[in-house]
Amino acid sequence: MRVSIIGAGVAGLTCALELAERGVSVEVLERSAAPGAGCSWFAGGMLAPWCELESSDALIARLGSESIPWWQQRFPATLVNGTLVVAQARDAADLAQFASRTGHCESLSAENIAALEPDLAGRFTRGLLFRDEGHLDPRAALAALRQRLAEVGVAVRFGVEASPAALAGRQVIDCSGLAARRQLPELRGVKGEMLVLRLRELVLSRPVRLLHPRLPVYVVPRAAGLYMVGATMLESDEGTRISARSLLELLSAAYALHPAFGEAEVLEMGTGVRAAFPDNLPRLRRLGETLYVNGLYRHGFLVAPALARRAAEVLLHGRYFPEVMNENSPERRLA
Ligand SMILES: Cc1cc2nc3c(=O)[nH]c(=O)nc-3n(C[C@H](O)[C@H](O)[C@H](O)COP(=O)(O)OP(=O)(O)OC[C@H]3O[C@@H](n4cnc5c(N)ncnc54)[C@H](O)[C@@H]3O)c2cc1C
Repeated sequence: MRVSIIGAGVAGLTCALELAERGVSVEVLERSAAPGAGCSWFAGGMLAPWCELESSDALIARLGSESIPWWQQRFPATLVNGTLVVAQARDAADLAQFASRTGHCESLSAENIAALEPDLAGRFTRGLLFRDEGHLDPRAALAALRQRLAEVGVAVRFGVEASPAALAGRQVIDCSGLAARRQLPELRGVKGEMLVLRLRELVLSRPVRLLHPRLPVYVVPRAAGLYMVGATMLESDEGTRISARSLLELLSAAYALHPAFGEAEVLEMGTGVRAAFPDNLPRLRRLGETLYVNGLYRHGFLVAPALARRAAEVLLHGRYFPEVMNENSPERRLA
């Protein structure tokens, strides 16, 4: 079997690697001239299956917990050292509610927080630790996937605008995100804005989420004093610019987490548009010879490996996975 994959975001590259590892001949076609297009470029890289239960279906937690070992095996720089969730003392009720909706966490005192993240000592009296969650640098992870694909002879062809119609007669996996809206008209765009800041004076070793009634924010550490600060969630598919309001809010929230962020250099302001179905859950959908892997919403890095495994099983063995192929499946809501 030869398979053409449309789109070199995290969905396309994980599907390509999953198939290539099973001996399938694969090519990846990407319309942009170089890496840096698509939603995947702007992600925070949090692998947070249990924190996401706060606003997501249990399916996301199941696909996400299955995916973390996949990342650890293929991208050893994946760190699994937990997610820290904090709130100001006046927002203690929000912290309790977050814990009750998510589970899988332990309560932390001020001393526990200081032991985990010494630079946050004295700033928060209570927190939560989601010990089994991880994070990765999305751009480095995508590069590592392309490198692995190259090693097994899979070409990622940049600058190629592809369509299932033009690839008629071939097996196609379409992972083109929001661009597939013509074939999947229920898809919508959810704009996400983010910043990359450089701040050498502060050391955080894991993602930190600050709960706040108006300005919730997360900060994900990357190498060499870099921090990704994110992310807005706006019902819009306008993906070109960050708004002044979002910039103010993201910076204010980072400053509320630690005033040292006031001295940070702003290296990048980015905007990505997440493709989402009405229930914000991902789908594998077959239309003719094309299998669509789409609707990864705010969970692309978290769930892509689990979706890629299922996509390979569908293509190679005709298997059926109701939780991602039947939107009325009760499995979508099982905890
Ligand atoms: C600010 C922000 C923060 C986020 N943080 C996280 C996070 O912490 N953890 C997490 O798990 N997820 C996060 N996400 C979500 C995650 O980024 C997305 O779910 C994921 O990137 C979707 O991947 P994808 O491969 O489906 O789509 P994309 O990354 O958009 O890839 C689609 C690709 O298809 C290409 N393409 C489109 N049409 C064609 C065509 N006709 N021919 C060829 N190529 C084509 C595009 O150029 C693009 O490269 C975040 C998103 C944003 C915006």
